[in-house]
Amino acid sequence: MRFNLSHLRNFGIMAHVDAGKTTLAERVLFFTGVNRSMGEVHDGQATMDSLPEEKTRGITIASAATTCFWRVEDGGESFRFTLIDTPGHMDFTGEVERSLRVLDGAIAVFDAVAGVQSQTLTVWRQADRHGVPRIAFVNKMDRPGANFAAAVESMRKRLGARPLALHLPIGAADTFVGVVDLVTMRALRWNDDDETHRPEIGDVPEELRFEALAARERLIEALADADDDIAHAFLAEEAISESRLHAAIRRATIAGRLVPVLCGSAYRNAGVQPVLDAVARYLPSPLDVAAPVGTHPETGDAETLDVSENAPFFGLVFKTETDRHAGSVAFVRVYSGTLEPGAVTLNAGRDRRERVSQVLAIHADRRESVDVARAGDIVALTGLKHAVTGDTLCDEGHALLLEAVHAPEPVVTVAVEPATRADLAKLSPALAKLAQCDPSLRLGTDPETGRPILGGMGELHLEVTLQRLTREYGVEVRVGQPCVAYRDTIRREATGHGRFKQQNGGSGMFGEVELVIRPLPRGGGFTFADKTVGGVIPKQFMKSIEQGVRDTMRAGLRDGVEVIDLAVEIIGGAYHVKDSNEPAFRAAGRLAFLDAAQRAGLQRLEPLAAFDVETPEEAFGLVLGDLSSRRARVEEIGQRGAAKFVLAVVPVAETFSYAGTLRSLTRGEGTFTAQPAGYAEVV
Ligand code: GDP
Repeated sequence: MRFNLSHLRNFGIMAHVDAGKTTLAERVLFFTGVNRSMGEVHDGQATMDSLPEEKTRGITIASAATTCFWRVEDGGESFRFTLIDTPGHMDFTGEVERSLRVLDGAIAVFDAVAGVQSQTLTVWRQADRHGVPRIAFVNKMDRPGANFAAAVESMRKRLGARPLALHLPIGAADTFVGVVDLVTMRALRWNDDDETHRPEIGDVPEELRFEALAARERLIEALADADDDIAHAFLAEEAISESRLHAAIRRATIAGRLVPVLCGSAYRNAGVQPVLDAVARYLPSPLDVAAPVGTHPETGDAETLDVSENAPFFGLVFKTETDRHAGSVAFVRVYSGTLEPGAVTLNAGRDRRERVSQVLAIHADRRESVDVARAGDIVALTGLKHAVTGDTLCDEGHALLLEAVHAPEPVVTVAVEPATRADLAKLSPALAKLAQCDPSLRLGTDPETGRPILGGMGELHLEVTLQRLTREYGVEVRVGQPCVAYRDTIRREATGHGRFKQQNGGSGMFGEVELVIRPLPRGGGFTFADKTVGGVIPKQFMKSIEQGVRDTMRAGLRDGVEVIDLAVEIIGGAYHVKDSNEPAFRAAGRLAFLDAAQRAGLQRLEPLAAFDVETPEEAFGLVLGDLSSRRARVEEIGQRGAAKFVLAVVPVAETFSYAGTLRSLTRGEGTFTAQPAGYAEVV
């Protein structure tokens, strides 16, 4: 069945750990007919969590996307939903941000007993930053101590949100049986014994009549405040139809002015259908959100995409996976145009053309081959060997980048040793596969032991990766202590000379290079320029010289530490008509660079992390004291809702096991996010 763009909903579920995100996702799939039986989280059966360690850890790390269909209750229209699973853990900030980019709206799940929890603040703020419209679901209404009104109030106080309660619960904790829908003024009750889990619709219970009328009055007032149409109707004291209310709630939600709030118990299958209706009614379609902007790979000019099937094709790879049967699978959000199996796409950032084999629609339990992907779709592509997370795919001749292509530098490394002889052979290929799927991983070799070294974005990132190694590839490993990934740079400008000459029988090898190296500021990376004149080195060898220099920088000059932030200019050299070749110039480039580096001297750099820490007021002093003992540079202190926050730059070397420390300093209430923040000189 074909759906118009206006009937697509690409959304995610966000929550504090344990609020019920996974349970709600399961119910969404169940009620939309995907799952025959419901997987319970505690059985390790949940369908959305596709990686085994997610099941055992009970947290959702990688993003998966699942397509399903929903027809709005009361014989309404049909919609196609794609539920995008957002990773919940802060060590994977790149993934969280990327999944927020590819979704158009979100359901925020709250625990009816706890209300807004510390981590909710973090994800809420991320969603704010990306302008993601939200609806809220207050879950666990069946738990002792459940309090809907208090949960709504905590959204107002702690998140600074403007919640719009659409429900009034009927009962709470063990008396919770359903809700009053304040738009229709009908009662919905769920009966545990009814296998269809469909709500029984009836009149508002007598004892709740006044409370419900008052709650509806508040709803209309809040809407009148946020929406002109309702404001007019309200002042004119007109009767406002259901469809007019829905339309106003939709406008206010998409504009981010209000957050509709529903309630229920996902675990007891109460209140899930209204959430699905609300997704269809209030969350944006791909047409309702700001069109993405791409940048031209060469000129850097910005261009806004046309979100339409008839425009050129643009898609963003937001996840890649290696599948035992299909090989590499790239999950792609199509922003505009269409893509068919067999098409050749251009990977804009890498200037590579690749043929797509299959276009797959992703369901929770299966993948279905489709004959076209259209603007607004989220699909999996097979056959692409080079596409990695963050890449833009597009038509030849119209290249734009949707995201800057840069793999973050790993800041923490661990040495990995095979546990047995049998594991030795499997280790390197398995690590290589994992690194291919996750651009924030980097593989290296310990210069002394020759063992692989794995680099990543943090302790937990590496921990999870190594568990995948065991589970998916059957490789048992021993892991060393996490280490900081230091870098070196040069202290001053210097010249160097390298000559590579070999004569053994037949044809020889010859290359000679003179170069200058210059320090670049932090974050400067690497630049390479050919400044030779008079053809002393033919142009065709410049790539080899650059390769020789790059290889040497990557391998490092002391302790195997990579060298960064410098500029190289080739200023002279010599070649031989018969004996010069690429390997000879690669070697000469390497020798010339080593010569120059010796003169330039080396400066050690350490990676930094930008911390954003939130803590309850009473623990603030302790948290600040601890940060200063970690050599943190505090940049900002302030108040967010009831919590204090501190922004600080901390050397990565001082960040190990910070999560545990923060937990104990704040009795589990504190949260933090960490982002790479460049390098600083070690004095
Ligand atoms: P997540 O960490 O946000 O994905 O939360 P889960 O879905 O894994 O749920 C955490 C725990 O809360 C599990 O043991 C669930 O069975 C339980 N849970 C989820 N929803 C409800 C609910 O509506 N009522 C009650 N009482 N428990 C729930």
